[in-house]
Amino acid sequence: MIQIDGSTGEGGGQVLRSSLTLSVMTGQPLRIFEIRALRKKPGLQAQHLKAVQAAAAICSASVEGAEMGATELIFRPGELTSGKFHFDIGTAGSTSLVLQTIFLPLTRANGASTVTITGGTHVPWSPCFHYLDWLWLPYLRQLGLDAELTMEQAGFYPQGGGRIRAKIQPARSIQPLTLPERGRLRQIRGVSAVANLPEDIARRQRQRVVSRLGDKYPLNDIRIVQLPAPFKGTVMLLLAEFERSQCCYFALGAPGKRAETVADEVADAIEAFMAGDGAIDQYLADQLLLPLAFADGPSAFRTSKITKHLLTNAEIIQSFLPTEIIIEGQHGEPGKVLVDVGVVV
Ligand code: ATP
Repeated sequence: MIQIDGSTGEGGGQVLRSSLTLSVMTGQPLRIFEIRALRKKPGLQAQHLKAVQAAAAICSASVEGAEMGATELIFRPGELTSGKFHFDIGTAGSTSLVLQTIFLPLTRANGASTVTITGGTHVPWSPCFHYLDWLWLPYLRQLGLDAELTMEQAGFYPQGGGRIRAKIQPARSIQPLTLPERGRLRQIRGVSAVANLPEDIARRQRQRVVSRLGDKYPLNDIRIVQLPAPFKGTVMLLLAEFERSQCCYFALGAPGKRAETVADEVADAIEAFMAGDGAIDQYLADQLLLPLAFADGPSAFRTSKITKHLLTNAEIIQSFLPTEIIIEGQHGEPGKVLVDVGVVV
């Protein structure tokens, strides 16, 4: 049984989710303790508990200790099966993070799967649905994984109530990735969206982005969208497309937060990325590490920032696999990530 200390590195939910994915992928039983020890409210919260239940459902795992607030659990994976799954987080907990927990294992199942998840689709500190659809999924396709994502309803923080659907096809292998540099900027496109709020807010978000970035960069096609959703919310997302890579940043509205402030957060993030020499953004970097650890060859990419999430994920992956992950550079600075030859399980 693999023993994971949940307070490792970042000490948050990602340690748990990556451990679950790795346990299902490798068939190795897992004991994890000190779950989310470095968070204000440690232990399993709704999203983390649902990630455990989702991981268990796709491989008929036996689980001990999975309840709200638990700081320790044992997870014994069984046989992976494809199928139709539905998970309801019950709060605005991130649907993206629950999906990412089971996505990779389901590409190894015996057939196609359909997964629907209800909860938050646009919540702080996690990839929003548009980030998954515009950036994460195209990269996974580049690695040879095939899936479709749809958002039936948006679920903004703090109420949630969103619903996403993923159709995941089985894949024989995962291709490695080599992205040493991004090349020239081709264009920046985006979406400025509102749910149950005046469209003028979305226009102001777009207007501010255009006035901040329009003279410097080729801005194209920033769509104004009304999202179907049970509650209110706004999002501004930009995707920068370079010759060899893409990066994506977004910001969310909140009561009392000006549309211009939302736009400024995204514009600042794009400017920070442009000032460095990363090929991909710091969020995708930690999210690609797991699939690349199972790729058929070595990978190398340049990230805009070495984060604690990246360093922690590398450590957890190496607790399960003989894969060697080397991260060159300083924490908080751009850096290079090297992933050794993957292991076929
Ligand atoms: P906790 O509640 O324990 O802090 P969590 O379960 O919300 O944790 P983390 O461990 O913080 O999860 O992991 C968050 C994940 O969301 C990471 O993979 C990170 O890259 C991703 N993420 C956070 N912010 C963004 C963003 N703005 N864009 C894309 N991805 C993001």
